[in-house]
Amino acid sequence: MSQRPIIFWHRRDLRLEDNAGLYRAQKAGGPVMPIFIFDREILDKLPEKKDARVEFIHQSVTELAAAYQEHGSDLRVFYGHPKKVWKAIIEEYQPGAVYTNRDYEPYAKVRDLAVKDLLEEAGASFHDFKDHIIFESDEVQKNDGGPYTVFTPYWRKWRTILDSRMSQFEGEELSYYLKPYPNTKYTDRLLAGKSDRPVPSLAEMGFAPAGIDIPPTEVSRKLIRTYDETRNFPGIEGTSRLGIHFRHGTISIREKARRAMDLNETFLKELVWRDFYSNIIQSFPRVVDAPFKKDYENIPWENNEADFKAWCAGKTGVPIVDAGMRQLNESGWMHNRVRMIVASYLTKHLLIDWRWGEGYFADKLLDYELASNNGGWQWAAGCGTDAQPYFRIFNYDSQQKKFDADYTYVKQWVPEYGTPDYPKEPLVEHKWGRERALRVYKEALAEARGEKP
Ligand SMILES: Cc1cc2nc3c(=O)[nH]c(=O)nc-3n(C[C@H](O)[C@H](O)[C@H](O)COP(=O)(O)OP(=O)(O)OC[C@H]3O[C@@H](n4cnc5c(N)ncnc54)[C@H](O)[C@@H]3O)c2cc1C
Repeated sequence: MSQRPIIFWHRRDLRLEDNAGLYRAQKAGGPVMPIFIFDREILDKLPEKKDARVEFIHQSVTELAAAYQEHGSDLRVFYGHPKKVWKAIIEEYQPGAVYTNRDYEPYAKVRDLAVKDLLEEAGASFHDFKDHIIFESDEVQKNDGGPYTVFTPYWRKWRTILDSRMSQFEGEELSYYLKPYPNTKYTDRLLAGKSDRPVPSLAEMGFAPAGIDIPPTEVSRKLIRTYDETRNFPGIEGTSRLGIHFRHGTISIREKARRAMDLNETFLKELVWRDFYSNIIQSFPRVVDAPFKKDYENIPWENNEADFKAWCAGKTGVPIVDAGMRQLNESGWMHNRVRMIVASYLTKHLLIDWRWGEGYFADKLLDYELASNNGGWQWAAGCGTDAQPYFRIFNYDSQQKKFDADYTYVKQWVPEYGTPDYPKEPLVEHKWGRERALRVYKEALAEARGEKP
């Protein structure tokens, strides 16, 4: 290698097509040397060695390497602590510049700053780009400045900005912001030849296959077209299951948003929720550990360990809650409607801190995304960005009647439902639990606001 290479660092963008940062690296000249790091700061902390997410990333990195090989290039794959790995990379390959796509999570931001410093000390530059979402927090701002904290006006403004710049693409008019990046046009800028750092095996990193099926990256047009009619019913396959692919960038958000614009506005709106929650952690990083609404900090949670265990195991005696938790435990996914119901039950009926539930979901969800998970949990606990405060308490019986009237979903995940083996009474019954939650939240908020004598 006579010229100092440009390194492209893949993280949440495990694809060669329609990749913003990679495109910028290719346009900057070359040769572009793509890399991926299996990060031990994250991997070493995972309690379960049969982790389906690690298996999925491993599989996706292997496929990405094969995609580069098809174009005469290859992916160099490292395993270690990012700072140490980068020191070694700088010494061995002497990059002139590093390109990557932005990651907005607090850990990633600190990591990237440290890597940037290392590179600058070595006389190399660091460039990062938007790829993971459609709009970053400073792009969708209120008219008087500042971030939106309520979804509906955010969504309206998001849509206006999206439509404000149109461009031609292959004869079709489409939003400038959704234009795909033509990476494969510039594959001659990729460093040629085989990698001296092949993908390590799962076993070499101390992991084993988990045996959980990953949903495909493609969803039928019919499913998206009828999404608004089917998405609320957990007993039918009415949602895309694309979450894990958005999380790791094995699909492009721009491509799926273009499709949604053609086929179903409700589906597009769900993709915008993802942007919204990402914007919230960008603008209010404190929400990662604390309630968005500050006066919710001192709710006197019951935090009963036995209740929490029963909730985790799907043994609360509330059929739809139990079905949801068992679906999560067995498949790594839970339907959105049921995520809302189980989260409401935990934070209201059982009066358990939303952070306990958030942590459990983080360990189990294949599509785990810090921003959306945090947003979903704070929404359920009433302490998030939602205009509706604590008094939205889901009645699990009405939810059952409305969304799983014939118990298809419940029977799928709780086979003993309807037999003497299933509990006769729920852990906490709705009316009593609702009244207790209303009283406890009300008193805590009054105290926080100094309204109590
Ligand atoms: C308590 C709670 C925790 C959640 N945790 C996560 C999480 O860790 N990761 C995650 O991606 N989503 C999370 N969600 C949002 C939502 O439940 C999932 O995105 C959705 O169920 C994933 O299934 P799907 O891919 O079939 O979604 P679809 O209904 O097909 O929607 C398509 C995509 O839109 C996005 N999306 C949809 N709804 C939301 C939403 N409410 N907030 C943010 N993005 C959304 C996701 O990227 C999703 O894959 C959570 C919701 C709640 C109530």
